[in-house]
This record gives sequence, C-alpha cells and structure tokens, in this order.
Amino acid sequence: MAPAQRAAQQGVRLADLVARLRASGSPFWEARLAGVGDVARVEDLGDLPFTVREDLRDSYPFGMLAVPPEQTVRIHASSGTRGKPTIVSYTADDVAVFAEVNARAIACAGGTPADIVQVAYGYGLFTGGLGLHYGVEALGATAVPASGGNPLLQLQLLDDLGVSGLCCTPSFALLLAERARPAGYTDLGVRYGVLGAEPWSDAFRGKVIEAWSAVTGRQFDACDIYGLSEVIGPGVAMECREGPGALHIFSDHFLPEVVDPATGDPLPPGEQGELVLTTLTKQAQPVLRYRTGDLTRLVEEPCPCGRTFPRMARITGRVDDMLVIRGINVFPREIEAVVLDDQALSGQYAIIVDRRSTLPELEVRVELARPGSEQDRSTVGERLAERLLARLRLRVVVAVGEPGAVPRTEGGKAVRVFSRTGDDDPIL
Ligand SMILES: [Zn+2]
Repeated sequence: MAPAQRAAQQGVRLADLVARLRASGSPFWEARLAGVGDVARVEDLGDLPFTVREDLRDSYPFGMLAVPPEQTVRIHASSGTRGKPTIVSYTADDVAVFAEVNARAIACAGGTPADIVQVAYGYGLFTGGLGLHYGVEALGATAVPASGGNPLLQLQLLDDLGVSGLCCTPSFALLLAERARPAGYTDLGVRYGVLGAEPWSDAFRGKVIEAWSAVTGRQFDACDIYGLSEVIGPGVAMECREGPGALHIFSDHFLPEVVDPATGDPLPPGEQGELVLTTLTKQAQPVLRYRTGDLTRLVEEPCPCGRTFPRMARITGRVDDMLVIRGINVFPREIEAVVLDDQALSGQYAIIVDRRSTLPELEVRVELARPGSEQDRSTVGERLAERLLARLRLRVVVAVGEPGAVPRTEGGKAVRVFSRTGDDDPIL
C-alpha cells in the first residue's frame, strides 16, 4: 500500500477507535477520554492521552474491556514482574488480526504456504506459542506445535518432518543448532528463524546464523520479531530477510510514535526514544498511545524488500534503564557501546551518577585491557571522554584504572550503574 493511502486508512481507523472507546460504556475509557476532542487524522494523535502498563494492572482483569464480555473469545496474560499478571482479551476479529500479522511476519523471514514451520515458543497464557501458531496457519503453511523445551525431540521433528522455519527465542535457536551435530543431525533443512521474546544483539544474530549455517550447509535468515501482549503479542513488527537491522511495523494495525521518555513529546524520525503504539483495529482491549518502555528510533530509508511499512531500529534497551543527567537522557548501553569500541580497554565499566551537588555529574570508570603506564591511562582517558562527549552530548568524568580495577558483580546480572550521594565511594 502506498504510504499516503495508508495514512488515510490510519486516520479513518483512529477516528473509529476513539468513537468505539467512547461508546463502549467502559468507565475507564469514559474517564480517560473526558475532555478529549474529536480525532479525525493521524496528525491529531498527540491530542490523545497515553496508556501505561499500570492502567492494565489497575484495571485487572477486565476493566479496560471495550466490548461486552460475551464478545471475547480468548485471553492471554503476561507474567507480571511482581504481583498479578496483565490480562489481555481478544474478540474473534482480534484473533484474526493476530493471525494475519504473524503470517506477515513469517513471510518477512522467507516463509511460504508450502513450508512446515515449527513453533517452539511456549504455548499457554504467553502470547508467543499461539500467536505464531495461528500465523503459520493463516499463511497456509503447516504448524508443528512443539512448544518450548526438549531439544532432542525438537531436533527429531525438524529432521523427520522436513521443517523449513523455526519460531523460538534466539537463545533457544542457538542451543538447538549447537546440539544438532552432536546428536547426529547434519542435514537439517531449516532456512529461517522467527526469533524474539528476548533482547538480542546483532553479534548474537551472527552466532545464530553461523551455528545454523554449519548445521544445514546453506544460508540461514535469523529475523527479529517484536511484540508485546498489551498491544496484541508477537507480530507488531518484524525484520525482513532483505533488510536486517530494522523491523517493519504493521502500522495499518499498530500506529507507532517515538517520544521523549521524560517529557512524552514526539521525536522526529531518526531520534532515539520510547516506542508508543496505538492499536487501530483492536476490538476487545484496545490501547491508546501505549508506552511500551522499549527504546528505538524510526528508520526513514526505504527497505530493499519493497514493503512500504515504516521501520524501527532493533530495540536498544528499556526506558527504565535511562538516566537523566542535567536534562540530557543518557542510556547506559550507549556508554557501553563506546567503551566496547575501544580496543585499549578491557570492556569492564562502571557508571557513577554523582548526586552530591545540585546538578548531577556522570563518571565512567574503565580499565585498561593490558597493564600500562600513567601516560597510557591518561591518553586513553582523554580519548574516551571525547568520544563520550560526541555520543552523549554530555561532558563525562572518565577514570581509567589498571586491569581488574573495576569491581565485578558476583553472580547474576552485572550491576553497572551506581549512585553517589555521600563521601563514600559507591563501588569500593
Ligand atoms: Zn523489508
């Protein structure tokens, strides 16, 4: 569809969505839309209120339903990090859209109706398994509902059934490839992976491709699928095999914005911020301008595949990780990228937010990869400070130590960010 035609369709769907929410009789939506004027175009989107994860939690389980309960046909849930899960409801139309966008996603990875596709996401309340399963069927391909776990059975099915597409997390895809050869599978026909539900880097993608190509002896396309249950589940956006690095957002159903996480103001294309999604066609439990908490930027360049859907860069982190230093949003992953880029450094680092004065200061502590002189440390430190200034647009205090100077986290997830409020050094 031509972008102009889609924009017109989005405007009609947005107006219809707001009208549906108003007419739903839902006290939640009545309160949320009080004082909001008519909406007729996509350009009016900014006039609408945000919805956030807490809205779903506070209205647990059915407070955000926009249709009579008897019209719903399915429920999914996402596990809450604490307390109750988040419940999402679907009408028959919602289930059909869910299937369609996942069919598109599988096609983006190279799937065709002739394929046999193994779905190794968990089936159940989680949206991954059933979401992709219905997508495979909607594409006209054949679904193998293997669900998660049991790598040896997965490999046997991949081999015996002649599976060409694999849907699972990137880490499980890598594990299957690594187990294949020792288990005697040297000629699997898997061509592509629809991989998501956990963050993964381009470096990890390289590993997955290498491992699978070694098992199959042919090209393997490892494509990133994005989604979240509050919006629909997987199938909100998908990387295509022709244009890796950015994901097509199926914006005829999910209208994207990128906003400044601190102020909520929309950001121009190319600037990194928080992804916000509006469900244009969802019936049972729509969301308006849902704050996903995921960080990305919109990519303007057209995709070589010819699809006209807008694209977003792969998710680079979570808003929860963001630091605000003197009015500038700083993401620890950006600092990490600069540190990892310098071969003279070991890659270990600590970020200290010094809050002892009114205006917080940012300090980055790193260490040399190999022992060096004071002159070496000073040269590397100046270079790093310059690169951080260029990347963050913020002056950063850099301290370079000898190898081993940055304390390691004992077990579990590495702690990289520390706050300093008193005279005590927070990392010593
Ligand atoms: Zn594409």
